[in-house]
Amino acid sequence: MIDFSFTENQLAVRDMAREVASKIIIPSIAEYDRKQEMNPALLPAMAEANLLGFCIPEQYGGLGMDYISLGLASEEMEYGDTSARVIISVHVGLFSLPLLTFGSEEQKQKYLTPAAKGEKIATFGLTEPAAGSDVVGLQTTAVKDGDNYILNGEKMWISLADVADQFFIFAWTDLDKKKNRDHSGISCFIVERGWDGLTTGALHGKLGVRAGNTGFISMQDVKVPAENLVHKEGAGFKIAMFCLDQGRYTVAAGSCGLIKSCRDASVKYAKERQTFGVNIEEHQLVKQMIANMEAGYEYSTYLWMKAGWLKNQGKRSTKATSMAKWIACKEAEASAANAVQVHGAYGFSDEYPVERFYRNSKGASIYEGTREIHTIMQADYVLGFRKDKELELDLPKVDQ
Ligand SMILES: Cc1cc2nc3c(=O)[nH]c(=O)nc-3n(C[C@H](O)[C@H](O)[C@H](O)COP(=O)(O)OP(=O)(O)OC[C@H]3O[C@@H](n4cnc5c(N)ncnc54)[C@H](O)[C@@H]3O)c2cc1C
Repeated sequence: MIDFSFTENQLAVRDMAREVASKIIIPSIAEYDRKQEMNPALLPAMAEANLLGFCIPEQYGGLGMDYISLGLASEEMEYGDTSARVIISVHVGLFSLPLLTFGSEEQKQKYLTPAAKGEKIATFGLTEPAAGSDVVGLQTTAVKDGDNYILNGEKMWISLADVADQFFIFAWTDLDKKKNRDHSGISCFIVERGWDGLTTGALHGKLGVRAGNTGFISMQDVKVPAENLVHKEGAGFKIAMFCLDQGRYTVAAGSCGLIKSCRDASVKYAKERQTFGVNIEEHQLVKQMIANMEAGYEYSTYLWMKAGWLKNQGKRSTKATSMAKWIACKEAEASAANAVQVHGAYGFSDEYPVERFYRNSKGASIYEGTREIHTIMQADYVLGFRKDKELELDLPKVDQ
């Protein structure tokens, strides 16, 4: 049975995230968004509040919290700004939780524990200049050379590329399978900043998530020790899909934070702005826009909570997570467009935050599976072309 009440521990995580959002993010976000820079105080504040590892078990430096807490923290972070939720998505969703599931004990000690404590920042390098949705189109290779693999390739559009200390990198280890586009030839590696041949750089001129770092990773003959292969050769595609199941969940819950920012800003403005002798909150068509935001928030919340509930049971949740991500992102985009509309011309200026919400809302329908990919996935489940099978490996143990 899905329980919609929250435990004290879950609420404590939510409150920690809310405090970081209200004290660190919201007061300066307009400035950092305009400068297209990350607030240098944000990662230390998130680490201090345990927001980089609270859902990792205590034995690996976390607090042992569950997926509902992860959803609540994602929502609060995105209420502050989308760029802050992206940190949780990549560091926790796309790196730490999958490493907990697929990593060796040595890898967990070496890479998961410092990530959970916030001492090292992590990210996920799957996308390449010519391969996003089409994962098997990636070109990066990892060729075995004694006790090492030699990695060559380019990753593009990687969140925190210029900030992270450790990276999941997906590369072909079987070049015959690469030719045949057989995804069982892809493997996953942990790569560290500072290793010879690895360089990163930031992308500028993005539509949104401007206060976040997004960049490229370039690898030229990077020597990666064989012990940094995650799980086993050929498991990379399966690991990438598991990563996306966790990352998409944080995007879905985060989108509810964005919807709430749109709603709150619109309610405030509707109570201040007058036309035709009344506050615009009196006009039915303005009410309609605000009601739509509230409806979108409500049912998107149920969708991510359903996915979180499945995850807490250790059940495969790919369909539920994809549905939550697809719908919540769609609702966030619609809410942001309506928030600009409620503000009229002022919504079109950076004097008010809604133009940032509007720009930020677009990215989530592109990353972690585009709107079209999730649409196809949902149709494929219903048409019988796709079915969630339980993972052969144990899922993360969670404290409920
Ligand atoms: C802000 C931001 C942060 C990101 N962070 C990361 C990150 O940390 N790590 C990472 O690895 N990647 C990251 N990405 C990359 C992101 O995951 C990809 O952009 C995404 O997977 C889409 O790939 P693409 O951009 O190559 O688009 P394409 O795959 O080239 O798609 C182009 C268009 O074609 C459509 N399309 C493609 N295939 C189909 C199909 N079969 N049927 C119907 N329509 C289709 C798409 O929906 C889209 O509309 C990030 C992107 C952004 C914008």
